[in-house]
Amino acid sequence: MNIEQGKKHIWLPYTQMRDHLPQLAIAGAKGSKIFLQDGRILIDGIASWWSAAHGYGHPHLIKAITKQAKILPHIMLAGFANDETYKLAWRLAQLTKLDHVFFSDSGSTAVEVAMKICWQYYINLKQTQKTKFVSFKNSYHGDTTGAMSLADLSDGMHQKFSQILLQNFSLDFPQNKNDLNKFEDFIKKNQQQIAGIFIEPMVQCAGGMKFHSSEILREIYDISKKHNLLFIADECAVGFYRTAKKFACDHAKITPDIMVLGKALTGGCTTLAATIVDQKIFDAFLGDSLNQALMHGPTFMGNPLAASCANASLDLFEQNDYTKKTLEIEKILTKELLKYRNYKNVKDVRVIGAIGAIETDLQRKDMLELRKKFIAQGVFLRPFEGVIYTMPALNIATKDLKIICDAIGEALLS
Ligand SMILES: *Cc1c(COP(=O)(O)O)cnc(C)c1O
Repeated sequence: MNIEQGKKHIWLPYTQMRDHLPQLAIAGAKGSKIFLQDGRILIDGIASWWSAAHGYGHPHLIKAITKQAKILPHIMLAGFANDETYKLAWRLAQLTKLDHVFFSDSGSTAVEVAMKICWQYYINLKQTQKTKFVSFKNSYHGDTTGAMSLADLSDGMHQKFSQILLQNFSLDFPQNKNDLNKFEDFIKKNQQQIAGIFIEPMVQCAGGMKFHSSEILREIYDISKKHNLLFIADECAVGFYRTAKKFACDHAKITPDIMVLGKALTGGCTTLAATIVDQKIFDAFLGDSLNQALMHGPTFMGNPLAASCANASLDLFEQNDYTKKTLEIEKILTKELLKYRNYKNVKDVRVIGAIGAIETDLQRKDMLELRKKFIAQGVFLRPFEGVIYTMPALNIATKDLKIICDAIGEALLS
């Protein structure tokens, strides 16, 4: 009865602890199926916050992590080179067409690292007034202090900290040529104090599954280059085929100055994130003393166990045609979810790759009810702020995907 004992002491994510739905006691999980201790089986529509890209318990990942656990679960990166972490750095550089990889523990910390790198890049170049960042309304870059300060602080869950956090510029996401002109005017006017632009390419996920076009993405990139700003693509959520391309930046055929990866990097097995930078940024840290160097080093940086898992996850991304798979998912989601377009409470239905989102006008209380309804239908989904969405494992069976879509339809009708 470990769960019973721990219940009094655990503090849950994004949860009002006074009244929340009971947590589901888990016995195990395999592929897209979750096995509960009471014998129920749920089809997982969100793959543990989009990280379990290859499904749970993939034998290739389990084998890699087991092997590495026996060799060496951890050794510090300061002073020691281990095969898995170095191999992963090489592979990520090839994959992203970038140059140097800084490992950390989670998406949020990798965002913090990216911010620090941008600041120091300009400090090293003696442009010390470039201290602020541009990000977009509805963006989400994590929950740590710096990452929170990239959120829209006039609204949303981090608003209450607006007086405490760093002051950056949270701008409306440009929707058309006119917006882009305004956006560029703002950049022009403030360019002296802006270090870079943080963007979730193609889809702002945790901020409400908001999409934008590859053309707009491309234009924002071009504007950032025109005005000499660093362009930081936070691909924590959309990287690794989630939008049917290897990286979401590929839709706009752009290579960012810095890419942030997390979530599916390890196939959802262990926590690991990477901040990957291009050559010019790395070179700006070279010098005669530690003063120019990046003074940063998480204890578990480049953890070999996590790296072995990430290498195995990259094997699977290489061996499988995930472009084809995610396009198939896109087709099914489009067909199934668009059916609900005219349902009561539905405001919009959007699909790209393995992301299907239904925006509704439902409230928080309704969301809790919906969660219950999904579970009753044998499906795990976690709608938030009026958005019902699925981001399943990329290798989910068609049959299971249809069950998820049907459950959404049923729940909307009832
Ligand atoms: C999840 C996410 C993060 C934060 O990652 P954590 O591992 O939860 O710290 C940052 N950026 C984006 C775009 C994300 O989706």
